[in-house]
Amino acid sequence: LEPFKDRNLRAFGFDMFSEPVRRAAMEQARDNGNSSVSGKVKLVQETVKDVQSGFLMYIPVYKPGRPVATEEERRYALLGFVYSPFRMKDLMSGILGHGIPDMDFELFDGPETTAEQLLYTSHDRTVSQTVPKYNVIRSINLPGRVWTVRFQSRPDFEQEMVSWQPLLLLISGCLISLLLFVLFRSLAGRQEHILLEAQRIGRELHQAEDRYQRMVENIKELIFETDVAGRWKFLNPAWEEIIGYTVEESLGRNFLNYVHPDEREHQKDLFKSLVDGDLEFYREEVRGIHRSGRDVWVELYATAQRDELGGLTGVFGTLRDVSIRRQAEIMARQAELSAHQAREAAELANQAKSEFLANMSHELRTPLNSMLILAKLLTGENNLTSEQVESAQVIHDSGLDLLRLINDILDLSKVEAGRMDVLGETMEFQTLQEGVLRQFRAVALSRNLELRLELEPGLPKGMITDWIKVEQILRNLLSNAFKFTHHGAVTVRIHRPDGADFAESTMNVDRFVAFTVSDTGIGIPEDKRELIFETFQQVDGATSRKYGGTGLGLSIVRRFAQLLGGEVRVASRLDEGSAFTLLLPLEFPFPDKVRSSLPESEDAVSPTARESFFAPGTTVLVVDDDERNRFAIGKILEKRVERILYAEDGGKALRLLDENPGVNLVLMDIMMPTMDGYQAMAAIRKQPRFAHLPIIALTAKAMPGDRQRCLETGANDYLPKPVQVERLFGTMNELLNTSSTPIPNAGTIAGADASADPVSTSSPSSQPLRAMTRNGRPLTVLLVDDDMRGIFSLAKVLQTRIGRVLIATDGVKALKQLKDHPDVDLVLMDIMMPNMDGYQAMRAIRLDMGRDDLPILALTAKVMPEDEALCLEAGATAYLTKPVDMERLWVEIEQLLGC
Ligand code: ADP
Repeated sequence: LEPFKDRNLRAFGFDMFSEPVRRAAMEQARDNGNSSVSGKVKLVQETVKDVQSGFLMYIPVYKPGRPVATEEERRYALLGFVYSPFRMKDLMSGILGHGIPDMDFELFDGPETTAEQLLYTSHDRTVSQTVPKYNVIRSINLPGRVWTVRFQSRPDFEQEMVSWQPLLLLISGCLISLLLFVLFRSLAGRQEHILLEAQRIGRELHQAEDRYQRMVENIKELIFETDVAGRWKFLNPAWEEIIGYTVEESLGRNFLNYVHPDEREHQKDLFKSLVDGDLEFYREEVRGIHRSGRDVWVELYATAQRDELGGLTGVFGTLRDVSIRRQAEIMARQAELSAHQAREAAELANQAKSEFLANMSHELRTPLNSMLILAKLLTGENNLTSEQVESAQVIHDSGLDLLRLINDILDLSKVEAGRMDVLGETMEFQTLQEGVLRQFRAVALSRNLELRLELEPGLPKGMITDWIKVEQILRNLLSNAFKFTHHGAVTVRIHRPDGADFAESTMNVDRFVAFTVSDTGIGIPEDKRELIFETFQQVDGATSRKYGGTGLGLSIVRRFAQLLGGEVRVASRLDEGSAFTLLLPLEFPFPDKVRSSLPESEDAVSPTARESFFAPGTTVLVVDDDERNRFAIGKILEKRVERILYAEDGGKALRLLDENPGVNLVLMDIMMPTMDGYQAMAAIRKQPRFAHLPIIALTAKAMPGDRQRCLETGANDYLPKPVQVERLFGTMNELLNTSSTPIPNAGTIAGADASADPVSTSSPSSQPLRAMTRNGRPLTVLLVDDDMRGIFSLAKVLQTRIGRVLIATDGVKALKQLKDHPDVDLVLMDIMMPNMDGYQAMRAIRLDMGRDDLPILALTAKVMPEDEALCLEAGATAYLTKPVDMERLWVEIEQLLGC
């Protein structure tokens, strides 16, 4: 019964066959196979209100495939009826709308027009009391039934429609019967259609059921239904797969039996919430128990099933096995855990590695120590040929290179092991810039490159950071820039970070300062821009052959930048240039510590340390038209004089001298375009202030007569090319030290340098061979070292200025030496030694021997940050790293002994 609600519900379950009027119509339909209309009935749907008379229409439905030719066959084949109840008043108002104007209209079941047979009336009888003038009666043939219709005129109608009334009545009568006829036809005519439709629906239903069945059976998810108490009412075959029990043995059992005991209470509560209506559904991951006893993780979705009145009829839902995912999660967690352990192990390994590197560096530094010192000594030896001296120089320089590499590796490993200290100091950008300028101007000149420095206006004056590291970073970037640039310029720019460049960065660029070193060099291919920051990586294999280098510089740069809270970026265009930008935070929580007075980087190999052969502030003007020559001479001089100026011809030389009256010496090439060396020297000597300016003439044309001509034109001395370094230095030394020429401004230049490099200010190197004395007597020094080569080389150097050098190869022997020679002025103490190491020996000297007065200078090749503190704690007066920088050593000895 559709719709299955409201008054229709009243008819549900009513046996129509038990009532004669309906039964007659049903039997008629059954027997003749057509639709039939019942006599007048009161429908069971009727309530007490607005009771209407009605009728029913039946269409017989026979079992498919059965013969229905005869009445007998039809009776036998009957399956049921399709039927429809009609409420007469509703039906007629549907057909006629507001009725027929000025006309009464009645319908009767059958041929009689009695009150009992009245099906419908368009008017209320009580109103129309008068006898109607027109009265028409007609019968309507319906399927298996006759109805009678009666029309009666009303007074209004009778007055107005005098002439054509009969016609009108006729028409309206016909019209109504026609309408009814059409209605019944259309209803009955659908019999066939309905049957087909029913068959189609039946087929579809069948298919759908089939599909549903298959789906439910094959689906991997469990579909279930329980009753109100939680007992399984339905389970699809997936159940067995998930939980191991068969559907048959599980049906009727409570679902809680299959839940892990730990979760039963919780699941019981949830189910109760569904029953009580507190929850409509829930979704949860539940731990179940498989028949085998193992845990099964399922994702459960349960929803309450309710009837029309909202009462719970059961719970319906689905369930999915998520054990695999769960297991994966557990494994992922374990993996994470083991990754963490792996990280820790890696960190330990890293520390071990850097420990190893530190030790290795010690092993490398010790032999290097002697090599460097001896090679250095040889370069000053007078009875060697210049070639031999040059070879010594090569050995020395190679040693320095090696040392630089060791230092780089050590720097890296220290950063990696987290043992690189950062110390914040305030410095102004201006100062930094000037420092950079001083170091690289000579390089720029020698390479014929422009060096530009730009300080963006509006920046803070300076900032707190670890400036030693910043300078090291910039030096690295600058030396790369110069190395890989053949023409154009290298620019250092200190500026606010360019927001666009760092768009992808997570850093707040406003709180950063950028230092950009850009060049117009060969550039870096896009695919190598990340790689070059890796250790030992260069753009390609040819790089080191062509340009040298090890591929460590940028690794250190990046690690240092990170250490200072910043980062390094590179932008580059092949053949156009590169720009490396160091971004540093304006405020970084640096430990509030004062840098130690002897930063470990200031050892013999620190690129800033100068082996000042000549007085501090010495400025040399190199005049040569050949770039390679300027470079070569620059290279030789670079570490030995304060400042080098370059001129490519005589004219430029004169201009430079004009601008820089502080020049102490001129190296003058002779063969040059425009104004040659002779002309230039003549022009210089013409100026009285340069009358005594030392000039050394250099020429590749070593012809007889050249020397004479040079000297005549104004040169103090003459050297043939290729210049022998030692000879050059010797000549320079002579000229500079004997020169009576007052050196204007030298004081200020030296003064400017004093803050940056304390070594050169106090260096006694201008008189390297003066013997050291204390209260007029020569010094005695005890040298303690287990490495014979180290002892030999150091002793050899010490003997040049110190009266007596005693030797001990371990702590025990050192103590004995001291007992035998209480007059020792100073002990140079190595740390890593067999039997008794340096720490133990120093403690013994201080505590056991009570020698508090004896200065002890600790020397160590291990340069971990704590080494210095350990030495001082053990009793050292001061501390130096190996290989020993002789300049420093002399300074240190002077300071310790006050001589
Ligand atoms: P090194 O210079 O000792 O080889 P670095 O780590 O400093 O080591 O540099 C790695 C490589 O990156 C260089 O060998 C070079 O190929 C490339 N590179 C670095 N700076 C520049 C630059 N300014 N222009 C072109 N290439 C550069």
